[in-house]
Amino acid sequence: MERIGIYGGTFNPPHTGHIQAAKDAVEALKLDKLIIIPAHVAPHKELPEGSPSPEQRLEMVKLAVADYPKIEVSDRELKRPGKSYTYLTILELRRQYPKAQLFLLMGTDMFLAFESWMEPDIIMANAVISVLYRGEKGERDAIFAQKEHLEARGGKIRIVKNQILAISSTNLRRLLAFRCAEPFLPQGVGEYIREHSLYETTADWKKLPMEELEKVVIRLLNPNRVAHVLGCRDTAMELAKRWGANIDDAARAGLLHDVTKALDGPLQLTLCREYGTILDDFGRSNPKTLHALTGSLVAERIFGESPAVVSAIRHHTTGKANMSLLEKIIYVADYMEPCRNFQGVEKLREYAFSDIDAALKLGLEMTLENLVSRELDISPETREALEFLNNH
Ligand code: FE
Ligand code: FE
Repeated sequence: MERIGIYGGTFNPPHTGHIQAAKDAVEALKLDKLIIIPAHVAPHKELPEGSPSPEQRLEMVKLAVADYPKIEVSDRELKRPGKSYTYLTILELRRQYPKAQLFLLMGTDMFLAFESWMEPDIIMANAVISVLYRGEKGERDAIFAQKEHLEARGGKIRIVKNQILAISSTNLRRLLAFRCAEPFLPQGVGEYIREHSLYETTADWKKLPMEELEKVVIRLLNPNRVAHVLGCRDTAMELAKRWGANIDDAARAGLLHDVTKALDGPLQLTLCREYGTILDDFGRSNPKTLHALTGSLVAERIFGESPAVVSAIRHHTTGKANMSLLEKIIYVADYMEPCRNFQGVEKLREYAFSDIDAALKLGLEMTLENLVSRELDISPETREALEFLNNH
C-alpha cells in the first residue's frame, strides 16, 4: 500500500525547520512520498507587511524541496477559493489516492487543538494523525493524553520524534528584517526573497523620520512590549529636556533600545554570529542579556543611527563607567517609564529630575541587589559603573 504524507502550513516563509521535519517524517513513517500543501490565507486576514503572494510562497517551498525527490508541493489549497479546511483537502486526496494510506503531519499545538478543527472525525477516518514532537518534557503528558483520547474516538495517532527547529515564522521575519536569517533559509529561498524584495529585506530604514521609525519598531516588537518602549521614549524625551540633551537622539534611542528583545537567547547568539561580533564571557554565558548589544548593532547597521544613539542602546541594561548624558538618560528612562511599578520606582522618578546621577546610581544598585538575590551573573560593566559613580 502506498504511504503518502501530507504537510500543510502557511510557509511564510518556508525555513530549514520545515524541511527537516519533512525529511524526518519521510524516514520515520517510511513514506513513499510527502506532499507539502501551502495554505491559502484569506485576503481579509491581515498579513505582516511585505508578505509574499500565495504564488510566491508556493515558489519558495518548491525551491526549498527541489533536492528531495520524495517531497512534492501541491497548489490545491491555493487554487481552492475560501478557507483552507484540512478535511476538504483530505477528502480530495482520498479520492485521488483511494488505496493509499494517508498520514497528516502536524505540530504539537495543532494536535492539542485538533478537536476544534472542522470535521475531525472525517480527517481521522481517512488519515493517520502524525504529530511532530521535539520531545519537550513539558508537553509530554498532554500529548500522550490527547493521543489516548483521540484513539478512543477512533483515530490512529503516530508520534514522530524529530529535530524540528525551534523558530517561529514571526521570529524568522524579524531575522529577515535584521538581515540575519540566512542560517534558517533553505537553499534558493534566501535569494528568492531578496530578488523579490520580500519581508522588507531590501527596505531602507536608515535615518527614518520619527513617525515611520515608530511604525517599523512597533512591527518588530512583541505586542506586549510596545507600551514599555513608547513609555521609555516619552520619558527619555522629558529627561533630555530637563538635562539639556539632544531630544531627537533621546527619542530615537528610546524607541530602538529593545528592538531585538523579541528574540530568545539562541537567536541573540545567531544575530551576533551573523554580524561577526565577538562576545565576552558574560555575553556568551548570558545570551538573554545580549539584546542591548544586538539592539545597538541593529540600530547602527539597519537604522543608520549615530554613535551617540548606538552607544546609549548598547549600555541600557548594564550601564558602564563614565556614561554620557544620553546613556544615563536611556538607562534611567528604561527603569522608570510609566509601566514600571516595582518598589522604589517613585524614588527613582523623583531623583531623575533632581539629580540624574543619583537616579542612575539607585538603578544600578537595585539591579545589582536583584541579580544577587536571584543568584544570577552580574555584568562587569554594572560593577564598573557603580565603582565610577562612587569615586566621582
Ligand atoms: Fe532592554
Ligand atoms: Fe527596555
